[in-house]
Amino acid sequence: MTIESAKGVAFDIEVPVAVIGAGAAGLVAALAAHEAGAEVLVIERDPVPRGSTALSAGLVPAPGTRWQREAGLEDSPALFSADIMAKAKDEPDPALVARLAGSVGPALEWLADRHGLPFSVITDFRYPGHSANRMHGLPSRSGEELVDRLARAVEESGIPILCEAAVDTLYAEDGAIRGLGLVRPDGSRERVACRALVLACNGYGGNKVLVAKHVPDLSGALYFGHEGNQGDALLWGAALGAATRHLSGHQGHGSVAHPHGILITWATVTEGGFQVNAEGRRFSNESKGYSEQAAEVLRQPGGSVVTVFDARIAGIARQFEDFRKAESAGAIVEAETIAELAARLHLPEDALAATLAEVEALKRDGGRDGFGRSFAGVPALGAPYRAVRVTGALFHTQGGLVVDDDARVLTENGATISNLFAAGGAACGVSGTGAGGYLSGNGLLAAVALGRIAGQAAGAMGVC
Ligand SMILES: Cc1cc2nc3c(=O)[nH]c(=O)nc-3n(C[C@H](O)[C@H](O)[C@H](O)COP(=O)(O)OP(=O)(O)OC[C@H]3O[C@@H](n4cnc5c(N)ncnc54)[C@H](O)[C@@H]3O)c2cc1C
Repeated sequence: MTIESAKGVAFDIEVPVAVIGAGAAGLVAALAAHEAGAEVLVIERDPVPRGSTALSAGLVPAPGTRWQREAGLEDSPALFSADIMAKAKDEPDPALVARLAGSVGPALEWLADRHGLPFSVITDFRYPGHSANRMHGLPSRSGEELVDRLARAVEESGIPILCEAAVDTLYAEDGAIRGLGLVRPDGSRERVACRALVLACNGYGGNKVLVAKHVPDLSGALYFGHEGNQGDALLWGAALGAATRHLSGHQGHGSVAHPHGILITWATVTEGGFQVNAEGRRFSNESKGYSEQAAEVLRQPGGSVVTVFDARIAGIARQFEDFRKAESAGAIVEAETIAELAARLHLPEDALAATLAEVEALKRDGGRDGFGRSFAGVPALGAPYRAVRVTGALFHTQGGLVVDDDARVLTENGATISNLFAAGGAACGVSGTGAGGYLSGNGLLAAVALGRIAGQAAGAMGVC
């Protein structure tokens, strides 16, 4: 990834606004820039837009939406901001948190009203750290549907998406971006001049060298995000003198079906399930969150553990396409008794039965276990039981380029790169420095809310 001088460069075409990356951040930015009156070109390295967005559950947290009001749910941007800050131990920039929390609800309503995305709010379970049910998703609860519907909206708006085009060069002059260079699969090259550029090419989860440097705990872990996320925005930013922050911040996940490689919703745990290691024993406070649980799981013998739950919880989890896929793939083990479950998973029966008894006693008595987890108010598990073997994985990084209120990239000395914007995983998010700071939904929050903000500001530059 290089930065070259734009002096004397002959560009093949010129567009007012260029967007690198056709995940949620890039597609939302393109829609917003187009609405601001600018002509936009989206450039994507893959044959079809997918990104990590397509791999996600497509759930976007948003407070104070009409879907929440219709469901009688009370929430506000202030409450959401407080949840984000509490999870990340006050590390994120409070102004950015307030901006994202205040703008994501209107962004979802805009996507629904203007572009026909049929969001609804999840009412039957709550993700750890959220004080209100505020996760919004599309009917299939899949990120594939989210990216497909966004891509369709972009195409219906007449915005071209140039696929199979990997940007490897930015051309800069006098502290601003003048254009970019891209390479096609046959090796041919094109240069595109632009008045404003949005970096929406996510973080560095797919770049082993950058992960080993910034997230060493997960350097050997399965990477479950999109391979195309090679840290290009970070590398360009560093070469341009851009400020970066919280590069060790990331989202892990302690619940990826092993060896099937299918995400198992954390509702299997929050609704009353628990995780045991090869000895049939619990090893952590699973309720802290699935992100920090990735490293806990990987520290167990063999790097995999078993989540134990029951048919009631499976019924809740089944709303997720991934869970249905896991069932079809045979990843979910069913058993009428704990003895049968232990035998099928090669776990010591006595230890597993004792662990279940401890958990159920905690549910009845309302106490906390030695790890600090409270089971108060959680329904008991009952036969028939369900279980799934899972491992820990790195999903995506959360650190990145520091941006101002308009998502414009800031330099290390606090100035702006006037026509360069960053959104989604390319920008520093609101999760702080570790795995524990990730509040569910922080990823698509930064993609959707910051994507719209970046698109509006880039679009305004594109029409001048
Ligand atoms: C399994 C999984 C589940 C998740 N579930 C959720 C969830 O439910 N809720 C949530 O909020 N977050 C979730 N996340 C995180 C969320 O998916 C990401 O934070 C979000 O999708 C980031 O969006 P983005 O547009 O920044 O990046 P992406 O969707 O990854 O898009 C970036 C695009 O840029 C392209 N690109 C990269 N470099 C170049 C280049 N040089 N030239 C051209 N194109 C380039 C890539 O090919 C890619 O298509 C999940 C992540 C994973 C992996």
